[in-house]
Amino acid sequence: MGLLIGEVAKRVELELPVRIRQSSLTDARCLYHYQQHHIKGIRKGDSEASVRGTHFHAAAKEYVDHLVETGQFTHYAKAEEIAKAYPDCQSLINLWCERSIFYPERIYATEFNILLDWDYRPVPPDTPIKYSPYSGTLDRVEMIGEVADIYDYKTNRAVFDVETIQTFYYPWLLSKVFPHLREINFHLDFVRFGVIRDRSFSKDELEISVQPQIEGWESYLLEAIENNHFPAMGGHSTCNYCQLQCPLVDAGLDGKAIVQVKKYDDAKDMAEIAFTMKKRAATMMQALKHFASKEDTPIELTEEVLDFHLVEKWKYDRAALMKLNEQYGLNPLNGLAPSKQALMKTFRRYPEFERDLQEVSENRSHSEFEFKKKPPKEEK
Ligand code: SF4
Repeated sequence: MGLLIGEVAKRVELELPVRIRQSSLTDARCLYHYQQHHIKGIRKGDSEASVRGTHFHAAAKEYVDHLVETGQFTHYAKAEEIAKAYPDCQSLINLWCERSIFYPERIYATEFNILLDWDYRPVPPDTPIKYSPYSGTLDRVEMIGEVADIYDYKTNRAVFDVETIQTFYYPWLLSKVFPHLREINFHLDFVRFGVIRDRSFSKDELEISVQPQIEGWESYLLEAIENNHFPAMGGHSTCNYCQLQCPLVDAGLDGKAIVQVKKYDDAKDMAEIAFTMKKRAATMMQALKHFASKEDTPIELTEEVLDFHLVEKWKYDRAALMKLNEQYGLNPLNGLAPSKQALMKTFRRYPEFERDLQEVSENRSHSEFEFKKKPPKEEK
């Protein structure tokens, strides 16, 4: 049993309005964000990226369920039919389905929803929140005997490290539903790139080292709830620029930050405010840049012009880029990050690389994104 009975009773009395799930744990890196979003239910509209992610997941479920029902490894015509219903990620769905082969007999479930009670026992989906604090939805679960594989689809524009909160949380959840499992493998499937990052867990590791970690996260959240203490945490990676009305940004805007720094503590406070404002400003500039490029118009202020439109665009294929990287003896992921700095370096180092990439990217209608390049300056 995970928690002491007295503690359980105390916690149940709290009538927690939220479940401890992967998204709330991720958001709790800034407690203010966590409180606003998961306790008060305040949220800013879904971004285009998150809507696209939701559509991809719905399509992936429909496709995999269809393969299981019909006992097929692939069915591209069906994939195309499903993809047509989601124009914002149609090419992505087609690409992923073309790349993937599924073994229907291995697939246990898609969008597998798990709820656990305070003693980490599975409970039915309609259990009230205060009796089912732990939850998670696993995109795809495959199982053979005592080994399970969890696949989590990522539509992000960059590949990141596998050591995320859900990497630990999802296998732990699954181990509570199926205690017979001796090994659980977790896979982040970066669907844009055809890259999968993995992490394996033994039953012992989940019990001995992952569970205390989850109990630590739980205590951290419960302490904040009990003390009603939810500070904005704008330092480095804890701030994910949540787009909520942030007290740190407000403090910066109302002039509190424009003071002389006399003590180290003041400097630290000011640095936190400055960091958050900088992050917010960078996100705003990105949105302006996107708008200006899409509409092909500069944005004029009274004396300044935000001129983002002087760009020439060409498209390249990610799979082709990865192949080319291999041919040149480079890391296959070189240049896939959104910043493109690595790619520019490669172009400078191997002048023919750019030409080769353009050539192999021709006539590709999917798996491509825009690369912006400033035209050479005109001679005066
Ligand atoms: S912008 Fe950053 S610091 Fe401010 S509330 Fe959101 S996550 Fe927290």
